[in-house]
Amino acid sequence: MRKPMVAGNWKMHGHRATNATLLDAIVRGLPTGIDAAVYVPFPYLEQVSALLATTPLTWGAQTLQAAPSGAYTGEVSAQMLVEFACRSVLVGHSERRALFGETDAQIAAKFVAAQAAGLQPVLCVGETLAQREAGQTEAVVASQLQAVIEAAGVEALSHSVLAYEPVWAIGTGQTASPAQAQAVHAFLRQQVSRLAPEVALGLRILYGGSVKANNAAALFAMADVDGGLIGGASLVAEEFLAICAAAAHTR
Ligand code: PEP
Repeated sequence: MRKPMVAGNWKMHGHRATNATLLDAIVRGLPTGIDAAVYVPFPYLEQVSALLATTPLTWGAQTLQAAPSGAYTGEVSAQMLVEFACRSVLVGHSERRALFGETDAQIAAKFVAAQAAGLQPVLCVGETLAQREAGQTEAVVASQLQAVIEAAGVEALSHSVLAYEPVWAIGTGQTASPAQAQAVHAFLRQQVSRLAPEVALGLRILYGGSVKANNAAALFAMADVDGGLIGGASLVAEEFLAICAAAAHTR
């Protein structure tokens, strides 16, 4: 049985004072039986690692540089994230793909670098609205996944998490229906299963895209939805905790 996971992506939000209040409230209300994590902007990693060190809430960054060191102004390596006791890192978030031009090949290299440093990558895949309307959803997510499988090997997925995030649902308030999410999650699992059935069985696939307290339970009730990657609602303790509670109750 796959343990549910709820991951909060803070994006470029936060402030030292409010971070502490938010995390304190989340830690106090966190249910057992799930893995919960927050992915915070780089400057807050030190604060978050100090605040969460003795709690069950884990933390990570929202991206990384694949190279270990060198002339990469503005970038942060996997080894640097490890120094802040990060356990994991988001890779291939659609905002990184769209706004910063990250390619499948670069994302695959980040995935490999994260794992080499002992970090669990959370690989994000998802189609745009135009791609969905053109009937390309499966082809798009399959090729995003395939790029990582080719670079890292299918077994590497056992030490990672997959997140299906339809671009049209991120930050828009327009959530995929539970049936739409389930269909893509099942497809992704089947893609892995063709190569490595055991890996597919254990692989957690999170849904992300306007998950809120009022729609989380229906999404998490789907057989192949193992939790959520939460943006906006991860910045409000009561919302995030209600989503965590929904995840804890689905298994
Ligand atoms: C995200 O940032 O990955 C995300 C899913 O955002 P939101 O929940 O706000 O749609």
